[in-house]
Amino acid sequence: MSSAEKTSEFVRRWDADHVWHPFTQMQEYLSAEPLVVVSAEGHYLVDDRGRRLFDGTSALWCNLFGHRVPEIDAAVVEQLGRFAHTTLLGTTHPGVATLARRLVDVAPKGLNHVFFSDTGATAVESALKMAFQYRLLTRGKAEAEKAVYLSFDNAYHGDTLGAAAVGGVELFHDLFKPILLPALKTPSPYCYRCPVGKTPADCSIDCADALDEALARADGRVCAVILEPGVQAAAGMLVLPEGFLTRVADACRQHDALLILDEVATGFGRTGTLFACQREGVTPDLLCVAKGLTGGYLPVAATLATDRIYDEFLGRYDEYRHFFHGHTYTGNALGCAAALATLGLLADGEIVRSVERKARVLRDALAPLAAHRHVGDIRQAGLMCGIEIVADRATKEMFPPGRRTGYHICLSLRDRGVFLRPLGDIIVLMPPLSSTDDELTSLADAVRAAIEAYFGA
Ligand SMILES: *Cc1c(COP(=O)(O)O)cnc(C)c1O
Repeated sequence: MSSAEKTSEFVRRWDADHVWHPFTQMQEYLSAEPLVVVSAEGHYLVDDRGRRLFDGTSALWCNLFGHRVPEIDAAVVEQLGRFAHTTLLGTTHPGVATLARRLVDVAPKGLNHVFFSDTGATAVESALKMAFQYRLLTRGKAEAEKAVYLSFDNAYHGDTLGAAAVGGVELFHDLFKPILLPALKTPSPYCYRCPVGKTPADCSIDCADALDEALARADGRVCAVILEPGVQAAAGMLVLPEGFLTRVADACRQHDALLILDEVATGFGRTGTLFACQREGVTPDLLCVAKGLTGGYLPVAATLATDRIYDEFLGRYDEYRHFFHGHTYTGNALGCAAALATLGLLADGEIVRSVERKARVLRDALAPLAAHRHVGDIRQAGLMCGIEIVADRATKEMFPPGRRTGYHICLSLRDRGVFLRPLGDIIVLMPPLSSTDDELTSLADAVRAAIEAYFGA
C-alpha cells in the first residue's frame, strides 16, 4: 500500500467513525462509497481514487468561479501576511470598510449600511431581529409584543431557530415546530403544483392574494415579510412567476411591514442579474446575502439595511437603542479579502451578463429530458435548475421517499464524472457561473443519461 492509499484508508475510517454529516442519514451514508475530495481544480473535484468530478453543486451553491481561483487565492494569502482576524467590536480594518462600501455600491440603491455575520442563517437572524427591534423602537413595547413575521410555504432561510421559524419546508421544519417562534405562513408560488389550481397560461399571480389577506387579517401585527426573491431554492428550485416579487413589495408597503429579501442563494449573479430583486426593480428594507459572497471560499454573510432602519437605532448610549446582536467572527479579514476579490471578478459585469446565454445552453441541452415519462418539471432561473422526478406525470404523484430516487440518480452520476446533490427527488443543477458551454452541455447529457439509465431508458 502506498502512503497515499494508507492516508486515504485512515480518512475513510475516521470519517465513518467520527464525522456527523449535515442533512444526512448517517446509516445510509455509511452504506455507500464516500467521496473523499483531496484536491480541486477549476470546476472539478479530485477524489482519493484519482477521479475528476465536475462540481455541479458549486460547493453547495457558493462557488461562483470554481476552485483555486488565482485572484481569490492571492487576496487571501496577501491578507494572511497582515493578519487573519481581529474583532469588529471596537476596531475596524481596511478590508471590512472597503467590502461594506463595495456591497453598498452594487446593491439596490438605498441599502447603505452593512451588518456582517458568518452564514446565511445568521444574516437572516440579524434581519429578523432588526425588524423586531425596529418595530419596538418606532411603535413601543405594547405593539412590539404583538409583532409576528410572515413567510412563505416552501421557504428556506437557514437552520437556526429564528431562520427555521420562517421556513416552510415541511420535512425540515415541522419536526421543530414546538420550539419555534410562531410565524404566519402564506402559499408559495409553486407553479408546477399551483396552490390555487392555475396553469402558467392563466396565471395572474392569484396566489399572492392570500398574502394580502393574511396581512389584512393580521391587522398591522406583521413587522416583516421575508421572501427568497426569484427562486425558492432549497424547496426544489421553485421559480417565482414574474411580478410576484412586485406584488409582495406592494403588499408590504400597504400594510407597513418591512420587506426582508433573502438572496443567500440567488445573489451574486446566479439568476442573470447581480441580485434577483433587481429583475423587478424592488429594493427591500433588509437584504441578506452569503453563499456566493466569498466565491465559496470562507463563511462571510451580510445584512444590508436602509437609512430609515439604521437611523432608528441611533441615540445616546443610555437610551439603549443599539442593535444588541453580534457574532465573534464578524468582519473576519480573510473572509473580507476573499469577498473583495470575488466582487472584483464580478465588477465588469461580464460574468453576470454571460449567465443568461449560458442558461440557454443548459436549457437547450436539457430540453430532450422534458419528454421523459418520469420527468414532471424542469425549471430554471439563470444557472439554478431543478428537475422534478415523478412517479406519474399525469397525476404528478411522487415516488415513495424510501425509494431514494433522486439520491440514486445522483450517486450514479459520479460514474459519469459529475457530482450533484439532489433535494429529495429534485435533481439540482447549480454549476459555477464560469462553466463553459461544453461543460454545461456535458453536465446536461450526463444527467439525461443517468435518468434514462436509472429508469431503463
Ligand atoms: C443556504 C441558504 C440559507 C442558509 O445559509 P447557511 O449559510 O447555510 O446558513 C439561507 N437562505 C437561503 C435562501 C439559502 O439558500
